[in-house]
Amino acid sequence: MCGIFAYSGQKKSAGDLVIRGLKKLEYRGYDSWGIAYSENQKIGLLRKVGKIGEFDLENTALPQSTLAIGHSRWATHGGVTEENAHPHVDAQKMFAIVHNGIIENYKELRDELQRKGYTFKSETDTETIVHLIADYAKENTFVTATKMAIKRLKGRFAILAIKADEQKIIAARRGSPLILGVGENEFFIASDIPAFINHTKKVMYIDDDEMVVVNEKPHFYNIHSGEEIEKRVVEINWEPQSAEKGAFEHFMIKEIMEQKDTIYRAINQKDSEILHLADEIKKAYGTFLIGCGTAGKVCHAASYLFSKVAKRHVNVIVGSEFPSQQDFLKEKSLVIAVSQSGETADTLEAIEVAKTKGSKVLSIINVEGSSMDRMSDYAIHIKAGPEKAVASTKATTSQLAILTMLAYACDNRLTEGKRLLIDTAGEINDMLNPRYEKHIRALAEKIKDFESMYVIGKAVNYPIALEAAIKLQEVSYIHAEGFAGGELKHGPIALISDGTPCIAIVANDETRTDILNNAMEVKSRGGFIIGVSPQNEDVFDQWIKVPDAGNASPIVNIIPIQLLAYHLAVLRQNNPDMPRNLAKSVTVK
Ligand code: GLU
Repeated sequence: MCGIFAYSGQKKSAGDLVIRGLKKLEYRGYDSWGIAYSENQKIGLLRKVGKIGEFDLENTALPQSTLAIGHSRWATHGGVTEENAHPHVDAQKMFAIVHNGIIENYKELRDELQRKGYTFKSETDTETIVHLIADYAKENTFVTATKMAIKRLKGRFAILAIKADEQKIIAARRGSPLILGVGENEFFIASDIPAFINHTKKVMYIDDDEMVVVNEKPHFYNIHSGEEIEKRVVEINWEPQSAEKGAFEHFMIKEIMEQKDTIYRAINQKDSEILHLADEIKKAYGTFLIGCGTAGKVCHAASYLFSKVAKRHVNVIVGSEFPSQQDFLKEKSLVIAVSQSGETADTLEAIEVAKTKGSKVLSIINVEGSSMDRMSDYAIHIKAGPEKAVASTKATTSQLAILTMLAYACDNRLTEGKRLLIDTAGEINDMLNPRYEKHIRALAEKIKDFESMYVIGKAVNYPIALEAAIKLQEVSYIHAEGFAGGELKHGPIALISDGTPCIAIVANDETRTDILNNAMEVKSRGGFIIGVSPQNEDVFDQWIKVPDAGNASPIVNIIPIQLLAYHLAVLRQNNPDMPRNLAKSVTVK
């Protein structure tokens, strides 16, 4: 959540570069934005409410500066106003900061600073930091004052600070992402690599409780001990164009279509590593799958796969609920954390707990070098490339593919599992053709004005029904709910009235008859049945054909619903890439 971008170098167009960088990060937060730069020994500020994508950069004269910091906000403390937008400055406009995260002890700090006479211009937790720095800077250098201020902060944060008369940026983090990009005599700092990948592929990772002072050469320090830390420059292998929309109108549709090859990429892992991880699962005294939102539903689906394919019980816990279940973790437990960004705050917290208990952690993530990647004992990279639309699509199916493969590996059938996934990937390639998309768009036209929709599934496709509902909610804003088909008669069926669209996910297996009966129960009460199934069935009013993928059915079944959600969003004139109230990579709790 929230995008941070900064530039320090020899180019005089820092303001312009930072705004362009922020535009690439807007999927992380988009209620307001701002930049700060140094101008005639004073801090200059530009802050706006609304989307940065709407800012006319070409026709705006920006000040000439070689250093600037910027932020696109996803508000946690204080409404969406210009005063609350970052950067925040001190009264003398000597210091400016941007911040991602929540300062948990901001009230105490604010009271303390107000008693000392500091006045606050915003309602944010963030503003405390800049006054704290200004206060310590009365008797200390900028670097020492910032270090002292950061030591006082509780909670998760990524922070950048600048001083009007010094050509340096100080960056620090604890629990929120921040990466240093290293160019030729210039540096970029951002929440995500895609923001600067068109400038450099060389990065230095800033770890938790570290601070880096960036001027001619970056110097890293441990925040607590003050000791300097040696860092390596790492070359990353994402292509700049993979972070662009190309010919597609939105990232969401581009990423849906990329599923033609992301499954292949996901399962292209070393067999020896997958078998070793399967052994870790088999050895563990309790395996805990943890994820939030869509990743949580992927974990839920995986629990069915582990049961059916490997006859193995795994626990599934939603990230934010983990604190109340952490007592079940033992030294020999295994935590499998699933997250696209590798930065999800609730999941990170679960990993922290697992580490204090001595449990092993395996992360299944997309972003290499992310916090989870570096904190875990083992990591599987799903290799889906940057996922920029807020609603997850290609990362979801790649996570499912990895977990399916692991379930097969646990039953000593890795080759069979891989074969199934390779075949499924081929079928997805055939399925995602223009005719198929047109068919789904026509269906979206038909149902776009309904206020509510329901999705039902059974067994492994029950969590997929839940995930389908998330997709529909996120981008179409239609009230959507997913249910286990058998649960309808215990309450939810009361919601069905004439014409209510109900998507029935029907797999061609032992669950088929039951779920078709459930669909019939809905139809008997006036529901309009949209069947997602390998074959057409009498009960369907509308059929969306999917390949018969056996145990890979969750992967093929979610894809047409992603497409449906996308087209509903577009037809309802929503921006599918940046849905209201949401942001990608949920780095706050
Ligand atoms: N807590 C800060 C605020 O509400 C930062 C939010 C963010 O990460 O965008 O301004």
